[in-house]
Amino acid sequence: ENRYRDLVSSIRAIPDYPKPGIVFRDITTLLGDPRAFRRAVDDLVHPYAGTKIDKIAGIEARGFILGGAVAHQLSAGFVPIRKKGKLPHDTVRIAYSLEYGVDEMEMHRDAITPGEKVIVVDDLIATGGTAEAACKLLTQMGADIVAACFVIDLPELGGRKKLEDMGIDVRTLVS
Ligand code: 5GP
Repeated sequence: ENRYRDLVSSIRAIPDYPKPGIVFRDITTLLGDPRAFRRAVDDLVHPYAGTKIDKIAGIEARGFILGGAVAHQLSAGFVPIRKKGKLPHDTVRIAYSLEYGVDEMEMHRDAITPGEKVIVVDDLIATGGTAEAACKLLTQMGADIVAACFVIDLPELGGRKKLEDMGIDVRTLVS
């Protein structure tokens, strides 16, 4: 099933975090493993090598780490999508629902020039609510979303399908 056995074994499963019954997929062990980190970044960018990508939009916080490396690899710029109140300049904001309650994310209003080709990067897609909100925000600002890329997919939670139903190409490495 998984073509990425070394990647899978570099990801640590933490039972009952952050709550009882949840198994958290901890990628700090992947990031700390030089070969696994390189492999993850190389494989995320592989389909887009030679395509002109203007910006990588990384979702706070683990999407910053992976997205920064992806941006460097593709010679693209980097745009942080942040939790509200963190960005210093004029922002655009979107609300999205979490398991309990709602939250908001922001990006700088001038971060994207309409028509720019953008890839969204995060470490993991679960329900897809976070990535969906990021994609909506980017689309509102005129981005042309080429793909959304994640190291880990939790397919039973339906996130990939949610993005694909929006017409977004989804790339994941392990499920
Ligand atoms: P979603 O909005 O798709 O339900 O949740 C995905 C977001 O929550 C991503 O930003 C991701 O970083 C974070 N997330 C949820 N569960 C996990 C997990 O088990 N491991 C990690 N590393 N991140 C998670």
